[in-house]
Amino acid sequence: MTVGVRFAPSPTGRLHVGNARVALVNWLFARKHGGSFLLRLDDTDLERSTREHAEAIERDMEWLGLKHDRFARQSDRMDRYALAIEKLKASERLYPCYETAEELDLKRRSRLARGLPPIYDRAALTMSAGDRAKLEAGGQRPHWRFLLESGDVTWDDLVRGPCHFHGAHLSDPILVREDGRPLYTLTSAVDDIELGIDHVIRGEDHVANTAVQIQLFQALLDGREGGSVPVFAHLPLLVDAVGGALSKRLGSLALEGLRADGIEPMAVNSLLAHLGTADPIQPFRRLDDLVAGFDLKRFGRAAPHFDPRELNQLNAKLLHITPYAEVAQRLAAMGLGGAGDGFWLAVRGNVQRLADVKDWWDVCQGAIRPALDDPDLTRAAAELLPGEPWDDRTWGQWTGAVAAATGRKGKALFMPLRRALTGRDHGPELKSLLPLIGRARAAARLTGKAA
Ligand code: GLU
Repeated sequence: MTVGVRFAPSPTGRLHVGNARVALVNWLFARKHGGSFLLRLDDTDLERSTREHAEAIERDMEWLGLKHDRFARQSDRMDRYALAIEKLKASERLYPCYETAEELDLKRRSRLARGLPPIYDRAALTMSAGDRAKLEAGGQRPHWRFLLESGDVTWDDLVRGPCHFHGAHLSDPILVREDGRPLYTLTSAVDDIELGIDHVIRGEDHVANTAVQIQLFQALLDGREGGSVPVFAHLPLLVDAVGGALSKRLGSLALEGLRADGIEPMAVNSLLAHLGTADPIQPFRRLDDLVAGFDLKRFGRAAPHFDPRELNQLNAKLLHITPYAEVAQRLAAMGLGGAGDGFWLAVRGNVQRLADVKDWWDVCQGAIRPALDDPDLTRAAAELLPGEPWDDRTWGQWTGAVAAATGRKGKALFMPLRRALTGRDHGPELKSLLPLIGRARAAARLTGKAA
């Protein structure tokens, strides 16, 4: 049997790094086990779901390279949820309740004040048919709760290990709203069963949902041919560098924002695939290269720290090992179509973001402000410039001649030349840059005639 996993975002906001981690882990799990990866949009919350967010989610997934094998949208599956609701009503696991939100809030607070778990007291179960009819006649519509069984719920979590919930501490969840619309707790379980999801890998904010959903799975599977309660794995949520919840900063950690900021998708994937494991964080150029080393067992229970500085460093390291063919098109789109692989190989070790190549292109072919700290030296050096063609041996030959003629060596020789030729103290090796700058431009810069 093939493994089936899903990533199920609600299109009520943009994807951020925390979502991306769950998506990636599911994707890797599917690839590792030859399974299928479903992208499911949990869009039953009509007030908050938007088409714009849904489209952004698909764009972000494509950007990360996390292609789905199957796609589903909950709003297309309302008839399936209606059938599930009928089934649960028929087996008397759904019961109508009429409390208003204010009443429920009062009850909850009074239980908390008495030191009791704030679960629903099941008052609706004691209502008579007459009580209900009276309320309905007055125009009140019920919402529907799932009747939990009193036993404890246990499962073997692939990340958290054995999990145990006391049935008495769980509240009967509302599965259907007053207006008849099904809620996530139900729709997710129906889909997981019907779409063949056998491993549910999600954030640990869903642990309590799992306890009730296990009972719901059992009720929905009852009398059904095939299907079983999925295996669960709950990943700890990411925290910021000082241990605070990431949720406060999610805006700046949206994938869309990272993309606009010039972060490479494989930098995000490389970081998220190993964050929270004991494995070293290092750049991987292809998702496929992450599959071999993937093992869900390597993910720990401790909340991993997400540090944007680590992402920045990884982004730079990734670019430093990226071959020209993989950036050629993007360089062309930046107007650097003619730059060529010599240019890329010369400068890639000095960029944090791909856009940084623009500066180095200006150093090679554009206008810069040369710094002439030692005019005697640079004038003499200009006179000793050899004739073209130049290659990466030219620098050594030329500076050897300049050293012999001027008696300068080491930093006193190289720094004034670097600052005159590039306008900067640091940068790529000059033996690679010099042929790209070319003789005419080098001569002009060394003598302060032009940029
Ligand atoms: N739509 C839910 C969420 O975004 C999915 C949770 C789940 O994976 O079941 O939190």
